[in-house]
Amino acid sequence: MRIIILSRDASLYSTSRLKEAGESRGHEVRVIDHLRCYMNITPHNPKVMYQGQPLEGIDAVIPRIGASNTFYGAAVVRQFEIMGVFTANESQAISRSRDKLRCLQILSRKGIGLPVTGFAHSTKDIDGLLDIVGGAPLVIKLLEGTQGIGVVLAETQQAATSVIEAFRGLDANILVQEFIKEAGGMDIRCFVIGDKVIAAMKRQGAPGEFRSNLHRGGSAAKVRLTPEERSTAVRAAKAMGLRVAGVDLLRSNHGPVIMEVNSSPGLEGIENATDIDVAGKIIEFLEKNAGPDKTRDNIKY
Ligand code: ADP
Ligand code: MG
Repeated sequence: MRIIILSRDASLYSTSRLKEAGESRGHEVRVIDHLRCYMNITPHNPKVMYQGQPLEGIDAVIPRIGASNTFYGAAVVRQFEIMGVFTANESQAISRSRDKLRCLQILSRKGIGLPVTGFAHSTKDIDGLLDIVGGAPLVIKLLEGTQGIGVVLAETQQAATSVIEAFRGLDANILVQEFIKEAGGMDIRCFVIGDKVIAAMKRQGAPGEFRSNLHRGGSAAKVRLTPEERSTAVRAAKAMGLRVAGVDLLRSNHGPVIMEVNSSPGLEGIENATDIDVAGKIIEFLEKNAGPDKTRDNIKY
């Protein structure tokens, strides 16, 4: 196959592992910076151009689109879809998963376990919002945050009110969530490909830290999932329309609850924690599923 990895940087761990895995399985793999792709938008012969040449004869695309350029990255992926090229994740699903609120709404509609979550526009409605999630302690999140930045634990009602007022004063969109204390600073990353969890790790926050993000000093280890956790992760990825997804969940008193669903999950943490060849499994998935005109997304939200 001829495979393109859309990535800003060929030297990133995930990108270089995917390239290596593809080449070792006999494929031709190119890393293309999506921000350097340009396109013609026409009913006949749509193209993606790169350094003056059209990208042609491609069998599959693996998008590795960072949060900061979702808009343009998704447009490049969409153009490949218009050309009939198979993509590991479709543009709609990538855009959809980047919006935490939209993501939670979609999951709730499918009856998938979530922390009780509230959302409001006006600071006049803070009291009502705090009631929805059962009062303090609670977690406040910036909708556009990643890597744990913009996730705050408010221990008291007063602290919650001032944090919400401060964020809203800056015009930031936030959501408010029940604090899953029993998770004890641990979350679980399930790496889903197709309809299977192919690897899973637990991440434990540094001592005294409720956020388990590795970027915040957390540490990772292999974990055994319960059947319920497995099926929750697979259902979440499917609900979002993602073929490849990093599904994060917490172990709560009322079963697994989803934190977020990531469309470009990193490979370094999970491969190191589990010794599983995740990159190879992504390539294998493409070998089994790629084909022309297989754009499928029909999720309405
Ligand atoms: P980000 O996109 O920045 O990673 P998350 O929503 O994943 O934001 O939150 C970061 C981490 O904070 C989670 O992995 C989890 O460990 C912790 N956390 C987030 N929400 C809650 C919650 N409602 N209850 C308990 N811990 C939480
Ligand atoms: Mg997270």
